[in-house]
Amino acid sequence: MSDSLHIVCPHCVAVNRIPALRLNETPRCGKCHQHLFSAQPLELRSDNFSRHISRNDIPVIVDFWAPWCGPCKMMAPAFEQAAAELEPGVRLAKLDTEAEQAIGAQYSIRSIPTMIVFRGGRELARQPGAMGAADIVNWVRSHI
Ligand SMILES: [Zn+2]
Repeated sequence: MSDSLHIVCPHCVAVNRIPALRLNETPRCGKCHQHLFSAQPLELRSDNFSRHISRNDIPVIVDFWAPWCGPCKMMAPAFEQAAAELEPGVRLAKLDTEAEQAIGAQYSIRSIPTMIVFRGGRELARQPGAMGAADIVNWVRSHI
């Protein structure tokens, strides 16, 4: 593992270089000065998706969901809990497949919710179906 990690700011998408040992010290963005981690899944859109997926050195877990999907809504609080537990070594993010259909199609999302683990722009694993917070954390840890 290298001494520093590239972390994409969830607020302004600036790519920050954070010493790996300082990742746990609530780092702030060098550009917008907001916290790089706030225990909240960030919202992905077409204008920030590829940057977060490809420029983060930490794994990025994306919850592909939609507003009309009951199980997705049920899983949302669990996904937030998982974010609180897994950050800052992992970034958790959500993609609304209703608003961003092209991205859902690009990754052949056939059922929602579906979670995908990305690292360095590559898909490492995917899991369809809603899960509780502990299961999400265990599943993520088993793939990173
Ligand atoms: Zn920023």
